[in-house]
Order: sequence, then structure tokens, then C-alpha cells
Amino acid sequence: MRNLILILGDQLSADNPALAGIDIAQDRVLMIEAVGEATHVWSHRARIAIFLSAMRHFAAQLRKLGLPVDYIALEDDGGDSLQERLSSALALAKPRRLLLCEPGEHRVAGDIAEVCNKAGVPLSIRPDTHFLCSREDFAAWAKGRRELRMEFFYREMRRRNNVLMQDGKPEGGRWNFDAENRAGFGKGGPGELPQPPRFAPDTITREVIALVERRFPEHPGSLEHFAWPVTREDALQALSDFISHRLPRFGLHQDAMWSDTPFGWHSLLSAALNLKLLDPREVIAAAEQAWREGAVPLESAEGFIRQILGWREFIRGVYWLDMPGLLEANHFGHDRQLPRFYWTGDTSMNCMREAIGQTLRHGYAHHIQRLMITGNFALLAGINPRLVHEWYLAVYVDAVEWAELPNTAGMALYANGGRFTSKPYIASGAYISRMSNYCGGCRYDPKQKTGPRACPFTTLYWNFLDRHEAEFSGNPRTALMTRNVARLTAAERAAIRQAAGNILETICSP
Ligand SMILES: Cc1cc2nc3c(=O)[nH]c(=O)nc-3n(C[C@H](O)[C@H](O)[C@H](O)COP(=O)(O)OP(=O)(O)OC[C@H]3O[C@@H](n4cnc5c(N)ncnc54)[C@H](O)[C@@H]3O)c2cc1C
Ligand code: SF4
Repeated sequence: MRNLILILGDQLSADNPALAGIDIAQDRVLMIEAVGEATHVWSHRARIAIFLSAMRHFAAQLRKLGLPVDYIALEDDGGDSLQERLSSALALAKPRRLLLCEPGEHRVAGDIAEVCNKAGVPLSIRPDTHFLCSREDFAAWAKGRRELRMEFFYREMRRRNNVLMQDGKPEGGRWNFDAENRAGFGKGGPGELPQPPRFAPDTITREVIALVERRFPEHPGSLEHFAWPVTREDALQALSDFISHRLPRFGLHQDAMWSDTPFGWHSLLSAALNLKLLDPREVIAAAEQAWREGAVPLESAEGFIRQILGWREFIRGVYWLDMPGLLEANHFGHDRQLPRFYWTGDTSMNCMREAIGQTLRHGYAHHIQRLMITGNFALLAGINPRLVHEWYLAVYVDAVEWAELPNTAGMALYANGGRFTSKPYIASGAYISRMSNYCGGCRYDPKQKTGPRACPFTTLYWNFLDRHEAEFSGNPRTALMTRNVARLTAAERAAIRQAAGNILETICSP
């Protein structure tokens, strides 16, 4: 055999660069399911199921195209880890080289290199053309910059790819309509929302669901509502439905949250993108075209495109630039255990119950729920970033380390000391009250810092500012945050510290 072409679980595109030039007379494709990839973090059952189902569908698609595929299924013999299984496959096939597209995860890249090294099989890695910005291009852009700012990267990407541009200038005369993307739903709530399409499990997915229920009964999350796109056809339908029905209002309500409203106007395309069932270029083009045809306002198209062309590419660039150190980042030296309710949703804080509850039901929460509810709480409560990272990597159907870790360590927890955010994303209950109706159904009061009905977010927010006052007030980027803390009396500070201690002891026990 000339090439054994390894296709990883998040590389499910017919345009996978490792497949280019395949010669079926002397090459074979290899795909591997491994228990270790589901247990490396305590994965949500829907996360395991979406990967396995999408992989099995993709293998079937390749076979239909006439490609020879060796598929090692979860129940097959040969050890639990990807490394053991790959090692056996190499021993059996004896290829002249192992060929693959750049793995998306630092750990997996290292594991594969180690196996090849031990087996004496040369490894050939092709750049991942799924992304619009290569790792090298990002490193070149970042070189010499003291601080990395997504906004400047995004402008560069708009120019370079001619997206929403007119004669070298941004459409609408502005790069960014972020200020128009922050409306809550108002007192009446979101009203009738267009429901995203559900992709009823077919035979392959039903088999996978049964397998996951059988093999991973202790794992968190439910499979009852599983209806995610697992093929390219499903993913294209999901994209088209989003562009027609939800993109028009996506911009305005991007940050809004409401009880029993898990999806809002969001696209739910992250998993399909991360599995590579969709190409980001086609997603961006569809949104731009909808605006050019007058079907959606510019602030919606721009707000959405910014997420894909800006944030998604930027986050991936940062991941490869800062790994493996990012895994250990812990700017504040936080060491609290992750409270148990992160895995169960069983907490008296209504906002956390809602955000975690829908996460366990669907394997999904939108960006502001991740950043300003579960992430904000983890930062304010001083939970160890590594444990928070392992939770985020486990519980979402879109969770892949390159996307998850910079968002968790960099954006939500400020664990990398503000490498790409100007200040920590922290907020008290007042913000949550403004952006949602969660506080209405809660036993706490977002306005109270101390006392029996004090909102844990509010208490911990003031406690956090009090604790870090010296660091924040000494830095012009964060000095504004501590202005109100400076006005607190010594007695008020003492009461806040005591209330925070009580909260951490009672509701944050592991
Ligand atoms: C702590 C934390 C952990 C996260 N973990 C992941 C993860 O593991 N995988 C993941 O894909 N996203 C992650 N995100 C980013 C973001 O929350 C999700 O991409 C988004 O919620 C997915 O839902 P959606 O497809 O409906 O997104 P939409 O709101 O419809 O946004 C459109 C698309 O933009 C991209 N996008 C938006 N924001 C980001 C971002 N900050 N970083 C990267 N891509 C972005 C996604 O591909 C998304 O599908 C995380 C964010 C936080 C704060
Ligand atoms: S009062 Fe506090 S804990 Fe309760 S929902 Fe509001 S922000 Fe969350």
C-alpha cells in the first residue's frame, strides 16, 4: 500500500485535502472510532452520538464514491485509545506512509506523530484548507503585535476575502454593527420564534444512539431530543433554513436569553461547521447574498459573518499560536473544584438551571449563555480553568478543542491574562436581568449584594472586583471597572466578602 489516508472524526468533507489525488489501486482510507475519544473528557452523550453518526454517514458516502474505506468501529477489538487502534492498523496495512489533513487538536496531532514514529511509518500532513486563514498566515498577522484584537483581524479578513466590501470600504460605511446586536427580547419575550429544522434520526443514527446509550450510560446529557444534522445534505438544509427564517433577526437578538427558548435566532451551525460538513465560505456567501438580495438587514448579515469570518478563524489561530501553554493558563491562580451542579443543572440559581438544563437536553447553549452565565459564574467563583475547560469540551455537540479552549480560557475566564480581550467578561445579576427573564423565576434578587436574597452573581461580582481592585485599577484598560468598588465603605466590603464566602461554601460545594 502506498498511502493509508486517515480521516479524523472532525474532517468529514469530500474536499478533505488528504483525499486529493487518491489512487484506489494503491491507497486506502482509514477511519477510527475510539472509546478514548469519548472519555478523554466526560462527554455528553449527544456529543458522542453526533461524531459517530456523522463519521458513519461519511464513510458510507466515500464507499458510494467507490473509495476503499477501512472503518474501525467502537465495538471492534483493538484497545480503547486512538493510538492503540492506529498502531494496529499500521501494523496490519504496512503503508509506505500515513497521510492526513492537519488534526484540529494539539493532543491528537501529538498522539498520531508518536504512533507513526514508533511504527517507523512516515507521516505526511497536509494543511487544512477548510479555514480561510492558515495557521502560518495567522502567525504572520499576530507577529509583533503586543495584543491580539479580533476586530483588526476581522477587518483584514473582510478585505482579503472581499466580503461585504464596496470599493475597498466596508458596506454600510462601518466594519461592525455590534452595537445593534445587543437588544433583549423586551418584556413580552421573543414571541413566536421560527423553530429550527429537526433531522429525525435515520437507521445509522438510531443504531449509534442505541450504542451510546449502551456503552456510555453514566455519561451526562440526554439523547431524547437528538435531531442534529449529521450529513452534508442535512447541513445544507440547516443552512438554508437559517438564512431564510432566522438570519433576519439574528443580529438584533444575538445576546438575548429567555426561559424555555434554547435556540432563539441562532444558526445552530457550529457542529456542522466543526465536523466540516459545511465550508465556512459557503456559509458566509449565503449570508452576504441574502443581504444583497434585500432579504436580511446589514446588521444581521454583518453580525453573523463576523462570527464565522472573524471570531471562528481568530479563535483557531490563537489556539495554534498559544498551545500547549493555553491548557495550563491560570492568570488568577483559581483552584476551586467544579460544582456538581454543572453536570446536573440542580441549582437554586435559575439562570444556571436554564443554561445547564438546555445544555444537558440538547448539547447546546448559545454564546451569551456560555460566556455570561456558565462562564461568568465559573470566573467569579474562582473555579480552576482546567476543570472548566474539561466541562465545556464535554457538554456541547460543537465542542472541539481548537474552538472551545480559547473561548473558555481566553474569553470566559481571562485565564490567559487578557491576551485577546481588553478586560475580563464579568457581570452581576443586573446584566442577566437586563438580557433575559431568568431573574423573574428565581429565588434571588439580582439587585441585592448581601442578605438572604442576594443574587450569587451580584455578590461574587462585587467580591471579585474587591479582590482584584489593585490589579484592575492599576491598568488603564480595567481601571473603569473598579470605580464603583472604590466607593464602598469598609463595612460594605466586609459584608460582601462574608456573603461571598457563604455562597461559595453552600452552593459551590463540589
Ligand atoms: C466558554 C465557551 C466555549 C465555547 N466552545 C465552543 C466550541 O467548543 N465549539 C464552537 O464551535 N464554539 C464554541 N464557542 C463559541 C460559540 O458560543 C458557539 O460557536 C456558538 O454558540 C454555536 O452556536 P450557533 O452555531 O448557534 O452560533 P451562532 O450564534 O449562530 O454563530 C454563528 C457561528 O459563528 C461561529 N462562532 C460564533 N462565535 C464564535 C466564537 N466565539 N468562537 C468560534 N466560533 C464562533 C460558530 O461557528 C457559529 O456556528 C464557545 C464559546 C464560549 C464562550
Ligand atoms: S437573580 Fe441572580 S441567580 Fe437568579 S436568575 Fe437572576 S442572575 Fe441568576
